Amino acid sequence: MRKITIAIDGFSSCGKSTMAKDLAREIGYIYVDTGAMYRSVTLYALRHQLFNEDGSVKTSELEKEMPNIKISFQLNKETGRPDTYLNGVCVEQEIRSLEVSSHVSPIAAVPFVREALVAQQQNLGKDKGVVMDGRDIGTTVFPDAELKIFVTASSEVRAQRRFDELKAKGMPADYDDIKKNVEERDYIDTHREVSPLKKADDAIELDNSKLTIAEQKEWLISHFNHIVNN
Ligand code: C5P
Repeated sequence: MRKITIAIDGFSSCGKSTMAKDLAREIGYIYVDTGAMYRSVTLYALRHQLFNEDGSVKTSELEKEMPNIKISFQLNKETGRPDTYLNGVCVEQEIRSLEVSSHVSPIAAVPFVREALVAQQQNLGKDKGVVMDGRDIGTTVFPDAELKIFVTASSEVRAQRRFDELKAKGMPADYDDIKKNVEERDYIDTHREVSPLKKADDAIELDNSKLTIAEQKEWLISHFNHIVNN
């Protein structure tokens, strides 16, 4: 069966990664969580005091540090999903904290950060057979992807999902703070100059506010089958 590239883009916390991971596992493709890469750069920046008091990024310092930031993924045999590593250390938990979520959008708006991570993402997906989730996969990273999905859901539904996820992991969570963060990230992600979040013209839109994970999976598999069998 021919291998294709699958781009899953959309707003924060709409379940893109759950959807992308499940799909990749089902069809035997590689899964790449590009948000985890921006989150890892953010964690590094937080640990190295690369933010100003007002939350903006110390860009020239960060630029100098970029060669020291190595991000990789390793399959976790227990979960069957890839974990994110920053300079050889697993950071899968830390990068999901609200502190990282609150600082990631300014980092993701820095042009040299995007350039470096996009190049790495293109390399990870160069042989196709990849499901990549993010904000600009179908528009910038793989504009020729054979299957592009743009996922949306209401901000209330998305905040509730992120809240449940953090609680399930035993991490601190406040619904109102999370909803505010989700809306702030939507704003910054859709308004930034470089690769703003927007639906690619040829992407299929999926509003999953009212879909169960199983229904969503069925929807996705039928689109995948339609493409690879035609
Ligand atoms: O997908 P996730 O919520 O983990 O992404 C975290 C942040 O990384 C997003 O809010 C966005 O600012 C940024 N991002 C991006 N481009 C991508 C993936 C994520 O700008 N391809």
